Parts: sequence; structure tokens; C-alpha cells
Amino acid sequence: MSNNVQPIYILPEDTKRTTGRDAQRNNIAAAKAVAQTVRTTLGPKGMDKMIVDQSGDVIVTNDGVTILEEMQIEHPAAKMVVEIAKTQEAAVGDGTTTAVVLAGELLKKAEDLLDQEIHPTVLAKGYRLAEAEAQRILKNIAEKVSLDQPDLLNSIAVTAMTGKGAEANRDHLASLAVKAVSSIAERKDGKIIVDLADIKVERIVGESSDKSELVDGIVLDKERVHPSMPETVNDAGIALLDCPLEIRNTEIDAKIQITDPSQLNAFLDQEERTLKMIADKIIASGAKVVFCQRGIDDMAQHFLSKAGILAVRRVKKSDMEKLNRATGARIVSNWKELSSLDLGFAGSVYEEKIGDEEMIFVKRCKNPKAVTLLVRGGTEHVADEVKRAVTDALGDIAAAVKDGFVVGGAGSVEMELAKGLRSYAASLQGREQLAVQAYAEAVEVIPRTLAENAGLDPIDVLTMLRSAHDQQQRWIGIDVFSGKTMDAWLSGVIEPLKIKTQALSSATAVAEMILRIDDVILGGSPEKKLERRSPADMM
Ligand code: ADP
Ligand code: MG
Repeated sequence: MSNNVQPIYILPEDTKRTTGRDAQRNNIAAAKAVAQTVRTTLGPKGMDKMIVDQSGDVIVTNDGVTILEEMQIEHPAAKMVVEIAKTQEAAVGDGTTTAVVLAGELLKKAEDLLDQEIHPTVLAKGYRLAEAEAQRILKNIAEKVSLDQPDLLNSIAVTAMTGKGAEANRDHLASLAVKAVSSIAERKDGKIIVDLADIKVERIVGESSDKSELVDGIVLDKERVHPSMPETVNDAGIALLDCPLEIRNTEIDAKIQITDPSQLNAFLDQEERTLKMIADKIIASGAKVVFCQRGIDDMAQHFLSKAGILAVRRVKKSDMEKLNRATGARIVSNWKELSSLDLGFAGSVYEEKIGDEEMIFVKRCKNPKAVTLLVRGGTEHVADEVKRAVTDALGDIAAAVKDGFVVGGAGSVEMELAKGLRSYAASLQGREQLAVQAYAEAVEVIPRTLAENAGLDPIDVLTMLRSAHDQQQRWIGIDVFSGKTMDAWLSGVIEPLKIKTQALSSATAVAEMILRIDDVILGGSPEKKLERRSPADMM
């Protein structure tokens, strides 16, 4: 009886499992699909995407990471590719499409080799060798850049914004971005330190982007809480509070039994006294300006304005942090604890109308490095996209000066890499050679896609580029506007080295990781399954 061979189930019944080549194919297909989505946005001639969320909000963008974040991708392997974009965004702030497209292509080439029965671990090893060689080539060909080369930095900013929403006034915006980074950059022990947290990018709807400007200090899209407060305060002690300056929950918790009018008065007196205490505490600290992350009660507003204090309520947390850096004020969580020691300083705080909106300017701060880039755009969607483009430019300039190296763009650096990798492949033997060759072909996806997106014949373009690079013309790339080749360096199409090193390393790492997976087990505990959609639906 016990001889009956029973199948052994080690997993719950409803677990979905794919193994071997099926698992690989499925994962690769998902990763390629992600790359395919953003591919058409690459480069100056890339198209935009319109993403509409469930509440009907619309985003129009060309920015790789924004698209992928908004799309709410669920496939596990696809999510890994989305992570590349996020890492790239965090590390450089630009090049997110490049990184994702590269990962997709590495996997596509890998698929061909898997079909030829090359083992995934051999492939993964070959890719790792190729990446190391690519990084070495990049270091060799990169050119130096420093803070003393504003023209070069300008080209980096222009390159970052070409083909984005900021296109129309990109020269103006580029020079603002360069000025912003230069004004906050610090030389320390022979190193350049740039902390982009010192630059606040504030967008204003209304007027075109050429009205954008760089302001010393912090600008908030806020107005003073009460019109009888002063519009301008000079040499101001500044208090930052993240507690409400109001008595809360009286509506919800109104359990007080009031039986006669005198009790009501007593209750109101009590409330007023507390609000007076709040105001007095602030006045006693010596603050002339208060930024509060929460609400400020009408009565408290009244007391503060009588004392000539300028108060702003419901300031965003991120702005509170910026104000903390800029003015040196400590963010206090309990008004009872506020003292003069917590105050920061700004030479001038005032309210001014910009376009249709009142803004609060905090200038001549204790920390002179704080600046705000006021980015303007005709409509909400335009202003948002201009802001994204400017943020890319800031990231690129910062990466370039921190790292000290730049490379030519327009596909030139990828062509140079492909060339170097091919000759490296020739020095290897066996199947790894095939993998390195595949890697070389994969990096050419960047110039190929730039050409495709510009409506050019990618084969013609790659042939032209290859022959130029064979003649040692390192920075020859594709002029997407004329369809001819051009010297990217001389044309000012320049990118920070960091975009490329980061894209190569994260794309390779994820491709390798996906290649090594031969078993996908979709399950998890039943409780979890009730909460989220069954992962089986994703496949
Ligand atoms: P990413 O998200 O990867 O930054 P982009 O849409 O910004 O994607 O495109 C970047 C690519 O466009 C880079 O390869 C860059 O070299 C190229 N590029 C930028 N400006 C030009 C230009 N004027 N001519 C040709 N290629 C350009
Ligand atoms: Mg870019």
C-alpha cells in the first residue's frame, strides 16, 4: 500500500509557479515591455506620454522615471526595471530613460543567446566582464570639467533640457540652473560639494518660462495668514513650528455640558486664554516671523498680528526643512517649548504678488547658500514639465561638477563604448566572447533609438557612426535635426559621465539578476492575498 507514489506538494494549492525557460522568458518579456514603453521618449525628438490617473488628473511628460512611477507597474520583473529608473533618478537626476532602455536591450540580446543554449550564468558573467570594461573605457575617454567653465556647464544644462517642456526658453533656464548650482557649490579639501537640497525649485503657473528667475533665499507659494500682519519684516527672528496653533477637536470632542450662559463664556474665555498663551509664547521668543506647518486659529492670528508678527500657515514639510537649512531655525514641535534659542534669521521677509499669486520671500538668510529657482509656465501642465526639465538640468550640472568629468552625448559615447567592447570581445574566448559582443551591440541601442525617434533610418545612421568612430572620431554622434553626423562635443551636446556609469551599472546588475532567475513562485500568505490583487493576475 505504501508503495503508491504520491506527488509531493510543498507549496499551497493556489500557488502559481513558473520554472526554467518559461520563467526566464516571461521575466525578460516584462522587462522589455517596460523599456519599450519609455523608448519612444528618448532624446530631443522623443515623444511625450500622457498619463491619466484614476481621479482623472493628467500628467504630460517626457521624463522616464515620472512615466514609470505613474504607471503603477505590477509585474515583479518589470518592477525591478522600474527600480533602475528610480536609482538613476536618485543618483544623478537624469538619464532614467537611457538606463531602462539599456536594461531592456541587454535582456533582449541575452534572450537570443539563451536560444542558442548558452547558459544564463555564463551570460551573466560575460555581461559583468563587459560592464567592467565599459566602465574602464568611459573613465579613459571622459573629459574634465570644473566650476570655472560656465560655458561647458551651460551646454550640459541645455543638453538635459533639449526636447523637454523647457525647450522654448532653454538657454535662459540653463543659465539660471548653472548660476544656481555655482552659487551653492562649495570647495572643501579639493573636492566640490553640491547639495541640491540648497536649491528650491518653485513653480508658478502663468507667464512663459522666460520669466523664470533665480532668487536668493527661499520663496514659498503662500501668503500671510492675516491681512493686518506686516507685509515686510526686516532683520527677522524666525520661528518654525510644526504643531497647530489652535485648540483642536472642540467640535468632535464637545462633551462639555453647558447649562447656562456664564459657563459658555467661561469656556470661551478659557479658549481665548490658551490662544493668548500661544501668541505670548511666540512673542516672548522674540520671533517676528512664524512659519507653521499646521493651522493657526483666528484668535491666535489676531494676537500675533497685533504684535506685528508675520505668520504663515500650512507650510509644506519639505519647505519647513528648506527654511530650517536656510535660516538656521529649529523646527519646534510644541509651542510651549519655543524659545529665542530656536529662532533662525533672515535679513528680509516679505510678501509679493507674482503673477496672480501672493508669494512669501525669505531673503538674506543666515545661510547665504539657499536659493530658489522660480520656474514659470503658462499652464499647470507646462509649468510641471518645465520644473521636471530644470530639475534634470540641476542634477546633471551637480553630477558633472561633483564628479569632475563629462562625455559627449548624441549617441557618441555609446558608439565609442561599442567599439571598445568589440575589440575587448576579440581578446576573449568561448561563450563569454559572445556575451561581450552582445553587450557591445546592446549599448548601441541608444544611438539607434535616437535615430528611430527622429524618424531616421537606424541602419544608415549606425553605419555612418561606426565608420566615423573607426577613424578615431570619438565624439561623433547623431544630429537628430539634420539626420547627419555631428561632433557632439563641438556642438555642445554634453552629459555628465555619471549618467553613463550609473546607467551601465544598474542596467547590468538588473539584467544579470533577471537572467539568474529560473523559478518564479507566486503565492504568499492567504491574508495578504485578500488585501492585494492576486499576483497571478499580473503574469
Ligand atoms: P534620459 O531620460 O535618458 O535623460 P532623454 O530624453 O533626456 O532621456 O534623452 C537623452 C539622450 O538624448 C542622450 O543620449 C543625449 O545624448 C541625447 N541628446 C540630448 N540632446 C541632444 C541633441 N541636441 N542631439 C542629439 N542627441 C541629444
Ligand atoms: Mg535626460
